[in-house]
Amino acid sequence: MNYPNKKINVAVLGATGAVGQRFVQLLCDHPWFHISALAASERNVGKRYEEACGWHLSDVMPEAVREMIIQPVEPVLDAQIVFSALPAQVARETEPLFAQAGYAVCSNSSAFRLDADVPVIIPEVNADHLVLLKRQKEQRGWEGLLVTSPNCTTTGIAIPLKPIDMAFGLKKVMAVSMQAVSGAGYPGLSYLDIQDNVIPFIKGEEEKIERESRALLGRMAGKQRLDADFTFSAQANRVAVSEGHTICLSLELEEKAEIAAVQDVLRDFRAPIYRPNLPSMPLFPIIVRDEEDRPQPRKDRNAGQGMQVSVGRIRPCPLLDVRMVSVVHNTLRGAASGAILNAELLVAEGYLS
Ligand code: NAP
Repeated sequence: MNYPNKKINVAVLGATGAVGQRFVQLLCDHPWFHISALAASERNVGKRYEEACGWHLSDVMPEAVREMIIQPVEPVLDAQIVFSALPAQVARETEPLFAQAGYAVCSNSSAFRLDADVPVIIPEVNADHLVLLKRQKEQRGWEGLLVTSPNCTTTGIAIPLKPIDMAFGLKKVMAVSMQAVSGAGYPGLSYLDIQDNVIPFIKGEEEKIERESRALLGRMAGKQRLDADFTFSAQANRVAVSEGHTICLSLELEEKAEIAAVQDVLRDFRAPIYRPNLPSMPLFPIIVRDEEDRPQPRKDRNAGQGMQVSVGRIRPCPLLDVRMVSVVHNTLRGAASGAILNAELLVAEGYLS
Protein backbone atom coordinates (compact mmCIF):
# COMPACT_ATOMS: atom_id res chain seq x y z
CA MET A 1 0.00 0.00 0.00
CA ASN A 2 1.20 3.53 -0.78
CA TYR A 3 0.91 6.34 1.74
CA PRO A 4 1.51 9.96 0.78
CA ASN A 5 4.60 11.39 2.49
CA LYS A 6 3.22 14.89 2.08
CA LYS A 7 -0.26 16.28 1.54
CA ILE A 8 -1.60 16.04 -2.01
CA ASN A 9 -3.12 19.18 -3.55
CA VAL A 10 -6.79 18.74 -4.45
CA ALA A 11 -9.41 20.95 -6.10
CA VAL A 12 -13.19 20.95 -5.75
CA LEU A 13 -15.29 21.57 -8.88
CA GLY A 14 -18.75 22.81 -7.96
CA ALA A 15 -17.43 23.92 -4.55
CA THR A 16 -20.42 26.16 -3.77
CA GLY A 17 -23.14 23.48 -4.07
CA ALA A 18 -24.66 21.00 -1.60
CA VAL A 19 -22.01 18.34 -2.26
CA GLY A 20 -19.23 20.87 -2.91
CA GLN A 21 -19.68 22.36 0.57
CA ARG A 22 -19.37 18.88 2.07
CA PHE A 23 -16.13 18.36 0.15
CA VAL A 24 -14.78 21.62 1.50
CA GLN A 25 -15.81 20.77 5.07
CA LEU A 26 -14.24 17.30 4.94
CA LEU A 27 -11.08 18.17 3.02
CA CYS A 28 -10.09 21.03 5.32
CA ASP A 29 -9.30 18.45 8.02
CA HIS A 30 -8.09 15.62 5.82
CA PRO A 31 -4.79 13.98 6.78
CA TRP A 32 -3.69 13.25 3.16
CA PHE A 33 -5.25 16.07 1.11
CA HIS A 34 -4.90 19.85 0.99
CA ILE A 35 -7.45 22.08 -0.79
CA SER A 36 -5.49 24.17 -3.28
CA ALA A 37 -8.30 25.34 -5.59
CA LEU A 38 -12.06 25.87 -5.62
CA ALA A 39 -14.07 26.20 -8.81
CA ALA A 40 -17.69 27.00 -9.65
CA SER A 41 -19.80 28.58 -12.39
CA GLU A 42 -19.02 31.78 -14.30
CA ARG A 43 -21.33 33.81 -12.06
CA ASN A 44 -19.04 33.15 -9.08
CA VAL A 45 -15.62 33.17 -10.75
CA GLY A 46 -13.37 35.82 -9.15
CA LYS A 47 -15.39 36.03 -5.93
CA ARG A 48 -14.06 35.03 -2.50
CA TYR A 49 -15.47 31.64 -1.45
CA GLU A 50 -17.16 33.25 1.55
CA GLU A 51 -18.92 35.69 -0.74
CA ALA A 52 -19.85 33.16 -3.46
CA CYS A 53 -21.13 30.40 -1.25
CA GLY A 54 -24.44 30.30 0.64
CA TRP A 55 -22.88 28.07 3.33
CA HIS A 56 -25.67 25.90 4.70
CA LEU A 57 -23.86 23.39 6.90
CA SER A 58 -24.18 23.64 10.65
CA ASP A 59 -20.40 23.87 11.29
CA VAL A 60 -18.91 27.27 10.50
CA MET A 61 -17.15 27.71 7.17
CA PRO A 62 -13.49 26.67 7.66
CA GLU A 63 -11.15 29.67 7.98
CA ALA A 64 -8.72 28.22 5.41
CA VAL A 65 -11.19 28.60 2.50
CA ARG A 66 -12.97 31.86 3.27
CA GLU A 67 -10.59 34.03 1.25
CA MET A 68 -9.92 31.57 -1.56
CA ILE A 69 -10.87 32.95 -4.98
CA ILE A 70 -13.32 30.92 -7.06
CA GLN A 71 -11.75 29.79 -10.32
CA PRO A 72 -13.34 28.68 -13.58
CA VAL A 73 -13.88 24.95 -14.15
CA GLU A 74 -10.88 24.63 -16.48
CA PRO A 75 -7.98 22.17 -16.33
CA VAL A 76 -5.38 24.72 -15.21
CA LEU A 77 -5.90 24.27 -11.46
CA ASP A 78 -2.98 23.67 -9.12
CA ALA A 79 -4.00 20.17 -8.01
CA GLN A 80 -3.32 16.49 -8.61
CA ILE A 81 -6.82 15.25 -7.73
CA VAL A 82 -10.08 17.02 -8.58
CA PHE A 83 -13.30 16.19 -6.80
CA SER A 84 -16.24 16.91 -9.08
CA ALA A 85 -19.60 17.99 -7.67
CA LEU A 86 -20.83 19.38 -10.98
CA PRO A 87 -24.24 18.90 -12.58
CA ALA A 88 -24.15 15.96 -15.02
CA GLN A 89 -24.37 18.04 -18.19
CA VAL A 90 -21.42 20.24 -17.09
CA ALA A 91 -19.45 17.20 -15.92
CA ARG A 92 -19.92 15.51 -19.30
CA GLU A 93 -18.08 18.36 -21.01
CA THR A 94 -15.44 19.21 -18.43
CA GLU A 95 -14.40 16.02 -16.60
CA PRO A 96 -12.73 14.46 -19.71
CA LEU A 97 -10.70 17.65 -20.16
CA PHE A 98 -9.32 17.28 -16.64
CA ALA A 99 -8.60 13.56 -17.08
CA GLN A 100 -6.91 14.26 -20.40
CA ALA A 101 -4.75 16.96 -18.79
CA GLY A 102 -3.44 14.47 -16.21
CA TYR A 103 -5.70 15.00 -13.20
CA ALA A 104 -7.24 12.13 -11.24
CA VAL A 105 -10.94 12.98 -11.34
CA CYS A 106 -13.16 11.58 -8.58
CA SER A 107 -16.67 12.41 -9.67
CA ASN A 108 -20.04 12.43 -7.99
CA SER A 109 -21.92 13.15 -11.18
CA SER A 110 -23.79 10.55 -13.20
CA ALA A 111 -22.29 11.67 -16.53
CA PHE A 112 -19.86 8.75 -17.04
CA ARG A 113 -20.91 6.31 -14.30
CA LEU A 114 -22.05 3.52 -16.56
CA ASP A 115 -19.49 3.86 -19.35
CA ALA A 116 -17.79 0.51 -19.93
CA ASP A 117 -14.31 1.88 -19.14
CA VAL A 118 -15.21 4.09 -16.16
CA PRO A 119 -15.25 2.45 -12.73
CA VAL A 120 -18.20 3.26 -10.46
CA ILE A 121 -16.79 2.36 -7.07
CA ILE A 122 -17.70 1.80 -3.44
CA PRO A 123 -14.39 0.55 -2.02
CA GLU A 124 -16.03 -1.96 0.34
CA VAL A 125 -18.21 -3.36 -2.46
CA ASN A 126 -16.16 -3.49 -5.66
CA ALA A 127 -12.63 -2.12 -5.29
CA ASP A 128 -11.57 -4.79 -7.80
CA HIS A 129 -13.41 -2.84 -10.56
CA LEU A 130 -10.56 -0.29 -10.51
CA VAL A 131 -8.88 -2.57 -13.04
CA LEU A 132 -11.16 -0.83 -15.60
CA LEU A 133 -8.72 2.08 -15.40
CA LYS A 134 -6.30 0.06 -17.55
CA ARG A 135 -8.97 -0.19 -20.25
CA GLN A 136 -9.75 3.53 -19.81
CA LYS A 137 -6.12 4.44 -20.42
CA GLU A 138 -5.89 2.21 -23.50
CA GLN A 139 -9.15 3.45 -25.01
CA ARG A 140 -9.03 7.15 -24.17
CA GLY A 141 -5.30 7.75 -23.92
CA TRP A 142 -5.78 10.07 -20.98
CA GLU A 143 -2.78 11.17 -18.91
CA GLY A 144 -5.02 11.17 -15.85
CA LEU A 145 -8.09 9.11 -14.93
CA LEU A 146 -11.77 9.27 -14.08
CA VAL A 147 -13.41 7.30 -11.28
CA THR A 148 -17.03 7.80 -10.25
CA SER A 149 -19.11 7.30 -7.12
CA PRO A 150 -22.63 5.91 -7.42
CA ASN A 151 -25.86 7.78 -6.96
CA CYS A 152 -26.51 8.47 -3.25
CA THR A 153 -29.54 6.17 -3.01
CA THR A 154 -27.73 3.38 -4.86
CA THR A 155 -25.01 3.60 -2.20
CA GLY A 156 -27.54 2.95 0.58
CA ILE A 157 -28.75 -0.11 -1.34
CA ALA A 158 -25.54 -1.63 -2.74
CA ILE A 159 -23.72 -1.70 0.62
CA PRO A 160 -26.30 -3.95 2.36
CA LEU A 161 -26.93 -5.98 -0.81
CA LYS A 162 -23.25 -6.92 -1.16
CA PRO A 163 -22.89 -9.22 1.88
CA ILE A 164 -26.34 -10.72 1.26
CA ASP A 165 -25.44 -11.45 -2.36
CA MET A 166 -22.11 -12.97 -1.34
CA ALA A 167 -23.75 -15.23 1.28
CA PHE A 168 -27.06 -16.23 -0.30
CA GLY A 169 -27.25 -14.82 -3.86
CA LEU A 170 -29.87 -12.34 -5.04
CA LYS A 171 -32.72 -13.14 -7.45
CA LYS A 172 -35.01 -10.12 -7.06
CA VAL A 173 -34.75 -6.73 -5.37
CA MET A 174 -37.60 -4.30 -4.74
CA ALA A 175 -36.64 -0.87 -3.37
CA VAL A 176 -38.79 2.10 -2.33
CA SER A 177 -36.80 5.21 -1.41
CA MET A 178 -37.71 8.25 0.69
CA GLN A 179 -35.06 10.75 -0.33
CA ALA A 180 -33.98 13.91 1.47
CA VAL A 181 -34.34 17.35 -0.12
CA SER A 182 -30.57 18.01 -0.04
CA GLY A 183 -30.33 15.27 -2.68
CA ALA A 184 -31.77 17.80 -5.13
CA GLY A 185 -28.82 20.19 -4.60
CA TYR A 186 -28.67 23.70 -3.15
CA PRO A 187 -30.99 25.65 -2.89
CA GLY A 188 -33.09 22.72 -4.13
CA LEU A 189 -36.87 22.44 -4.07
CA SER A 190 -39.18 25.24 -3.10
CA TYR A 191 -40.56 25.02 0.45
CA LEU A 192 -44.11 25.23 -0.90
CA ASP A 193 -43.51 22.17 -3.06
CA ILE A 194 -42.05 19.87 -0.40
CA GLN A 195 -43.44 21.05 2.94
CA ASP A 196 -46.21 18.69 4.14
CA ASN A 197 -45.68 16.58 1.06
CA VAL A 198 -44.20 13.55 -0.70
CA ILE A 199 -43.22 13.85 -4.37
CA PRO A 200 -43.37 10.43 -6.06
CA PHE A 201 -41.01 11.29 -8.91
CA ILE A 202 -37.29 12.07 -9.19
CA LYS A 203 -36.23 12.32 -12.79
CA GLY A 204 -33.95 9.48 -13.89
CA GLU A 205 -33.45 8.21 -10.34
CA GLU A 206 -35.13 4.80 -10.58
CA GLU A 207 -33.15 3.86 -13.70
CA LYS A 208 -29.89 4.98 -12.02
CA ILE A 209 -30.62 2.94 -8.89
CA GLU A 210 -31.43 -0.21 -10.86
CA ARG A 211 -28.54 -0.03 -13.33
CA GLU A 212 -25.86 1.17 -10.93
CA SER A 213 -26.73 -1.46 -8.29
CA ARG A 214 -26.30 -4.22 -10.87
CA ALA A 215 -23.00 -2.66 -11.99
CA LEU A 216 -21.63 -2.39 -8.44
CA LEU A 217 -22.50 -6.01 -7.67
CA GLY A 218 -21.21 -7.15 -11.05
CA ARG A 219 -17.99 -9.07 -11.50
CA MET A 220 -14.92 -8.43 -13.56
CA ALA A 221 -14.00 -10.73 -16.45
CA GLY A 222 -10.59 -9.44 -17.48
CA LYS A 223 -11.09 -5.76 -18.30
CA GLN A 224 -14.86 -6.11 -18.74
CA ARG A 225 -17.51 -5.58 -16.07
CA LEU A 226 -20.33 -8.13 -16.19
CA ASP A 227 -23.30 -6.63 -14.41
CA ALA A 228 -25.22 -8.73 -11.87
CA ASP A 229 -28.40 -10.16 -13.33
CA PHE A 230 -30.94 -9.96 -10.48
CA THR A 231 -34.28 -8.31 -11.31
CA PHE A 232 -34.61 -4.87 -9.75
CA SER A 233 -37.72 -2.70 -9.26
CA ALA A 234 -37.05 0.75 -7.75
CA GLN A 235 -39.52 3.49 -6.80
CA ALA A 236 -38.04 6.86 -5.77
CA ASN A 237 -39.82 9.50 -3.68
CA ARG A 238 -38.73 12.91 -2.38
CA VAL A 239 -39.75 13.58 1.24
CA ALA A 240 -39.47 16.54 3.62
CA VAL A 241 -36.24 15.39 5.34
CA SER A 242 -33.15 17.60 5.18
CA GLU A 243 -30.44 14.91 4.91
CA GLY A 244 -30.40 11.10 4.89
CA HIS A 245 -32.12 8.82 2.41
CA THR A 246 -34.29 5.94 3.70
CA ILE A 247 -34.83 2.87 1.53
CA CYS A 248 -37.27 -0.02 2.16
CA LEU A 249 -35.94 -3.20 0.55
CA SER A 250 -37.55 -6.58 -0.18
CA LEU A 251 -35.31 -9.33 -1.48
CA GLU A 252 -35.69 -12.75 -3.03
CA LEU A 253 -32.64 -14.91 -2.39
CA GLU A 254 -31.08 -17.72 -4.43
CA GLU A 255 -30.62 -19.73 -1.25
CA LYS A 256 -33.24 -19.51 1.51
CA ALA A 257 -31.88 -18.02 4.74
CA GLU A 258 -32.98 -17.58 8.34
CA ILE A 259 -33.49 -13.96 9.39
CA ALA A 260 -30.80 -14.37 12.06
CA ALA A 261 -28.34 -15.47 9.37
CA VAL A 262 -29.14 -12.37 7.26
CA GLN A 263 -28.64 -10.17 10.33
CA ASP A 264 -25.30 -11.85 11.00
CA VAL A 265 -23.90 -11.37 7.49
CA LEU A 266 -24.90 -7.70 7.55
CA ARG A 267 -23.44 -7.14 11.01
CA ASP A 268 -20.18 -8.94 10.24
CA PHE A 269 -19.62 -7.43 6.79
CA ARG A 270 -16.13 -6.17 6.16
CA ALA A 271 -14.82 -5.07 2.77
CA PRO A 272 -13.53 -8.05 0.75
CA ILE A 273 -10.46 -5.88 0.10
CA TYR A 274 -10.16 -4.16 3.46
CA ARG A 275 -7.70 -1.29 3.66
CA PRO A 276 -7.44 -0.47 7.36
CA ASN A 277 -5.34 2.61 6.86
CA LEU A 278 -7.61 4.58 4.55
CA PRO A 279 -8.62 7.56 6.71
CA SER A 280 -12.30 7.52 5.64
CA MET A 281 -12.93 3.75 5.65
CA PRO A 282 -15.04 2.56 8.58
CA LEU A 283 -14.17 -0.80 10.14
CA PHE A 284 -17.76 -1.95 9.59
CA PRO A 285 -19.63 -0.26 6.70
CA ILE A 286 -23.00 -1.45 8.06
CA ILE A 287 -24.50 -0.92 11.49
CA VAL A 288 -27.45 -3.21 12.27
CA ARG A 289 -30.16 -1.65 14.45
CA ASP A 290 -32.25 -4.02 16.55
CA GLU A 291 -34.86 -1.48 17.78
CA GLU A 292 -38.28 -1.88 16.16
CA ASP A 293 -38.39 1.77 15.00
CA ARG A 294 -34.89 2.26 13.59
CA PRO A 295 -33.14 3.29 11.40
CA GLN A 296 -34.42 6.86 11.07
CA PRO A 297 -32.68 9.56 9.02
CA ARG A 298 -32.49 12.16 11.78
CA LYS A 299 -31.09 9.72 14.32
CA ASP A 300 -28.96 7.45 12.14
CA ARG A 301 -27.60 9.43 9.17
CA ASN A 302 -24.43 10.43 11.04
CA ALA A 303 -23.48 6.88 12.09
CA GLY A 304 -19.73 6.43 11.75
CA GLN A 305 -19.30 10.10 10.78
CA GLY A 306 -21.85 9.58 8.04
CA MET A 307 -19.92 6.61 6.56
CA GLN A 308 -21.92 3.72 8.01
CA VAL A 309 -25.18 2.60 6.45
CA SER A 310 -27.75 1.77 9.15
CA VAL A 311 -29.94 -1.26 8.48
CA GLY A 312 -32.88 -2.39 10.61
CA ARG A 313 -36.32 -3.97 10.63
CA ILE A 314 -34.85 -7.13 9.11
CA ARG A 315 -37.77 -9.51 8.93
CA PRO A 316 -39.49 -12.07 6.70
CA CYS A 317 -41.23 -10.80 3.56
CA PRO A 318 -44.47 -12.56 2.61
CA LEU A 319 -43.99 -11.56 -1.04
CA LEU A 320 -40.27 -12.23 -1.50
CA ASP A 321 -37.96 -13.66 1.24
CA VAL A 322 -36.64 -10.92 3.47
CA ARG A 323 -37.24 -7.20 3.95
CA MET A 324 -35.41 -4.42 5.73
CA VAL A 325 -34.89 -0.65 5.95
CA SER A 326 -31.63 1.15 5.17
CA VAL A 327 -30.55 4.75 5.93
CA VAL A 328 -27.59 6.42 4.21
CA HIS A 329 -26.23 9.95 4.58
CA ASN A 330 -26.70 11.26 1.04
CA THR A 331 -24.14 14.08 1.01
CA LEU A 332 -21.51 12.17 3.07
CA ARG A 333 -21.32 8.41 2.29
CA GLY A 334 -23.59 8.95 -0.71
CA ALA A 335 -21.50 11.79 -2.16
CA ALA A 336 -18.47 13.72 -0.79
CA SER A 337 -17.09 11.22 1.77
CA GLY A 338 -17.66 8.37 -0.69
CA ALA A 339 -15.63 10.16 -3.40
CA ILE A 340 -12.89 11.03 -0.88
CA LEU A 341 -12.68 7.36 0.13
CA ASN A 342 -12.32 6.50 -3.58
CA ALA A 343 -9.44 8.99 -3.86
CA GLU A 344 -7.77 7.47 -0.79
CA LEU A 345 -8.07 4.04 -2.41
CA LEU A 346 -6.53 5.35 -5.66
CA VAL A 347 -3.58 6.78 -3.71
CA ALA A 348 -3.13 3.62 -1.63
CA GLU A 349 -3.30 1.35 -4.69
CA GLY A 350 -0.71 3.42 -6.54
CA TYR A 351 -2.96 4.85 -9.28
CA LEU A 352 -1.66 8.40 -8.83
CA SER A 353 1.50 9.03 -10.81
P1 NAP B 1 -25.78 21.84 -6.55
O1 NAP B 1 -26.04 22.10 -5.11
O2 NAP B 1 -26.75 22.35 -7.54
O3 NAP B 1 -24.31 22.39 -6.93
C1 NAP B 1 -23.85 22.46 -8.25
C2 NAP B 1 -22.46 23.07 -8.30
O4 NAP B 1 -22.02 23.09 -9.67
C3 NAP B 1 -22.38 24.51 -7.80
O5 NAP B 1 -21.14 24.72 -7.18
C4 NAP B 1 -22.47 25.32 -9.09
O6 NAP B 1 -21.77 26.55 -9.00
C5 NAP B 1 -21.71 24.42 -10.05
N1 NAP B 1 -22.11 24.66 -11.43
C6 NAP B 1 -23.41 24.69 -11.92
N2 NAP B 1 -23.38 24.96 -13.24
C7 NAP B 1 -22.10 25.15 -13.60
C8 NAP B 1 -21.44 25.49 -14.82
N3 NAP B 1 -22.12 25.66 -15.96
N4 NAP B 1 -20.08 25.59 -14.80
C9 NAP B 1 -19.39 25.40 -13.67
N5 NAP B 1 -19.95 25.10 -12.48
C10 NAP B 1 -21.29 24.97 -12.44
O7 NAP B 1 -25.69 20.26 -6.83
P2 NAP B 1 -25.25 19.08 -5.80
O8 NAP B 1 -26.43 18.52 -5.11
O9 NAP B 1 -24.08 19.55 -5.01
O10 NAP B 1 -24.79 17.96 -6.81
C11 NAP B 1 -23.56 18.00 -7.52
C12 NAP B 1 -23.40 16.70 -8.29
O11 NAP B 1 -23.34 15.60 -7.35
C13 NAP B 1 -24.56 16.40 -9.24
O12 NAP B 1 -24.07 15.76 -10.39
C14 NAP B 1 -25.44 15.45 -8.41
O13 NAP B 1 -26.21 14.62 -9.21
C15 NAP B 1 -24.38 14.67 -7.65
N6 NAP B 1 -24.81 14.09 -6.37
C16 NAP B 1 -25.54 14.84 -5.47
C17 NAP B 1 -25.90 14.27 -4.24
C18 NAP B 1 -26.69 15.03 -3.22
O14 NAP B 1 -27.10 14.39 -2.21
N7 NAP B 1 -26.93 16.32 -3.38
C19 NAP B 1 -25.51 12.97 -3.94
C20 NAP B 1 -24.77 12.24 -4.88
C21 NAP B 1 -24.42 12.82 -6.08
P3 NAP B 1 -22.55 27.98 -8.76
O15 NAP B 1 -22.91 28.02 -7.29
O16 NAP B 1 -21.52 28.94 -9.12
O17 NAP B 1 -23.75 27.95 -9.65
